[in-house]
Amino acid sequence: MSVTVVGSIAYDRVKTPFGERERMLGGAATHFALAASFFDQVRVVGPVGDDFADLETLKLRGTNVDDVEHVPGGKTFFWHGEYGWDLNSRDTHDTQLGVFETFEPKLGEASKDAEILFLANIQPDVQRAVREQSRASFVAMDSMNLWIEIARDSLVQTIAGVDCVILNDAELRQLTGKPNLFTAAREVLAMGPSVVVAKQGEYGAALVTESEFFSLPAYPLETVVDPTGAGDTFAGGFVGHLARRPGDYRTAMAYGTALASFNVEEFGTERVARLTAAEIDRRIEELRAITRL
Ligand code: AMP
Repeated sequence: MSVTVVGSIAYDRVKTPFGERERMLGGAATHFALAASFFDQVRVVGPVGDDFADLETLKLRGTNVDDVEHVPGGKTFFWHGEYGWDLNSRDTHDTQLGVFETFEPKLGEASKDAEILFLANIQPDVQRAVREQSRASFVAMDSMNLWIEIARDSLVQTIAGVDCVILNDAELRQLTGKPNLFTAAREVLAMGPSVVVAKQGEYGAALVTESEFFSLPAYPLETVVDPTGAGDTFAGGFVGHLARRPGDYRTAMAYGTALASFNVEEFGTERVARLTAAEIDRRIEELRAITRL
């Protein structure tokens, strides 16, 4: 199988209580690809500007970048965020869309043919334009509060055309107007998808389908340095495992949890870029041990 991801490829300026980076590789598609590339061939779709100098990191573990579009004269998407002392709150100081302002995704034939498609957090009309080009048999997506606020109708249309929605708990509540997470998840299932994953940050993640509920705590870490990209890294582990074992949602939750836990140990992509499969497997075994009744 192979996995196509469309989303931001970015430079991030990030400050956390444990340090800061002026300009590091980031973006939802980048974090997703670095995680999913442990499981399958990943193909990244997204634009970059003249200033982009990190293609080699994006290509780690065999990721294909044929559909990474270099826009001459353009600037790579830039995001500047700062985290509060417990890392649960995050302020966005600046978002510069750059090459994303005029982005019209064009998938090559191989990207269209990937069995799995992940629509990372971008404008929901663009997500739909990608969905319509793709011949994937399983489509998952993410989104964010901004699109719930300014493009809700379009977002609901996009949700209706996917199999799996991965959102954080606050976004699920905001999208549905339901304060109860399970009621909110059920409401999203009623929009069309068959699987909803509610990410709950340091408290873990829950999976809801018509017939199943499953929940995992986050891996207990004593050192969390930078949560940027944790959600996309979770999605990369989750969707990546499903590419290998379609329908095996519970183990996919464990891989998502394990990958995300590595991501937050260092800034940006630093930890996951040099991660090994053996380290991931060890963490899966530890998760098994700490969640056994
Ligand atoms: P996460 O921490 O999982 O929410 O993902 C953070 C990543 O998303 C960062 O690397 C940013 O570059 C990227 N990002 C931040 N804001 C946006 C946005 N409005 N659209 C797309 N990507 C974004």
